[in-house]
Amino acid sequence: MADVPKDLLLEIKGLEELFTVDTAKLKDITEHFISELAKGLSVEGGSIPMNPTWCMSMPTGDETGTFLALDMGGTNLRVCEIILTDQKSEFDIIQSKYRMPEELKTGDADELWEYVADCLQQFIESHHGGEDLEKLCLGFTFSYPATQDYIDHGVLQRWTKGFDISGVEGENVVPMFEAAIAKRGVPIKLTALINDTTGTMIASAYTDTKMKIGCIFGTGCNAAYMEDCGSIPKLAHLNLPADMPMAINCEWGAFDNEHKILPRTKYDIVIDKDSPRPGQQAFEKMIAGLYLGEIFRLVLVDLHDNHKVHIFEGQNIDKLRKAYTLDSSFLSLVEEDPFENLSETGDLFQNKLSIVPNRPELELIRRLTELIGTRAARLSACGVAAIAKKKNYESCHVGADGSVFNKYPHFKQRGAQALREILDWAPKKSAKEEDPIEILAAEDGSGVGAALIAALTLKRVQDGNM
Ligand code: BGC
Ligand code: MG
Repeated sequence: MADVPKDLLLEIKGLEELFTVDTAKLKDITEHFISELAKGLSVEGGSIPMNPTWCMSMPTGDETGTFLALDMGGTNLRVCEIILTDQKSEFDIIQSKYRMPEELKTGDADELWEYVADCLQQFIESHHGGEDLEKLCLGFTFSYPATQDYIDHGVLQRWTKGFDISGVEGENVVPMFEAAIAKRGVPIKLTALINDTTGTMIASAYTDTKMKIGCIFGTGCNAAYMEDCGSIPKLAHLNLPADMPMAINCEWGAFDNEHKILPRTKYDIVIDKDSPRPGQQAFEKMIAGLYLGEIFRLVLVDLHDNHKVHIFEGQNIDKLRKAYTLDSSFLSLVEEDPFENLSETGDLFQNKLSIVPNRPELELIRRLTELIGTRAARLSACGVAAIAKKKNYESCHVGADGSVFNKYPHFKQRGAQALREILDWAPKKSAKEEDPIEILAAEDGSGVGAALIAALTLKRVQDGNM
């Protein structure tokens, strides 16, 4: 950074201090995380919901059957038909993707369920039009915190990921869904309501028995793992066998909602304050794809307006002032841009924001993306380490999915590096050597995972186990 003026270098240094989370802090966060996971399982509860999901076994690889899966994530709505074939751990899948219209996310419940039912109906008509169908079993991936008393039940605790649809929070979403389906006569039976993280864990375990944890690092951020019922005090009244497994959807996005430990910046505080659910999802708001671009934008506007060195001096930054104009793919592109020229970054700013940064500004922009991306990856590792420590997993695989995990440059390596620091692993002897705990790209949790959970549920019912 030879040609960056001293003042700007100081600004960069300030940002580095603000966004860097060192090893000691990662360890502190992880320890606190472990106690919060336990609190969430207690009768009193804590800020992490730790929702029992009634998914009560890992797949063996021998599951079979044809299932539908509906994935209502943060960005898309996807319908799949999955055939779990007779061959071990094999499946076939056909799918259609529908974009979730932006207005729907802040509309009302009826519009939401009508839209969902329309997509399902379209799917059935195009793939099974004219057939005399028996009811197809559906796994519905509803990726929001829900309280479940059984597997085809789920009371939405609160919307996350910028959703703000009235009339759903505090309600059981299953009857709403079923009513919309029944109205159209679509031959579907909802068998299981699942979270994307549980689906990810189960789908990954179908093909890899070392998989113990499922994570999503996408528009939102969360994880699921298998707990023993004996370690879930809030279920003690049900007298379930102590060694019976129960998948827990942690909803760890809510970690540190009480702001005891995370190194929040003033930018994180603004994100929270201006979100539809202030005070919620403190951890998620520092990590998830929905927010990374917004953090970046807030820093740049602040540097332009309030700092000693005014970046983009004399330029009109009106476009940059618009909230949520930049998503995490913008940051990905900047991080991928060869540092020698940063010409792609220059083009992005010019085309999207009508701003022409000079070379020193380009370097600041690049550094800022690295800082925000690195902080996200390192903080996520605390959650993974916390679950592993809580369960005494010395070695295992973690299945991860989501746009940030799959597409954000260096996210995987940065996360792995942080895990290494938190868990004090000795340096690898060769690049080929596996870490004791590896976070790997998952199988399709919201499709295949949902189908598998539906299959496991049917089997559990057949076997007469609850
Ligand atoms: C939701 C979780 C979900 C995660 C990833 C969060 O905002 O609350 O249920 O697993 O996003 O999609
Ligand atoms: Mg998803």
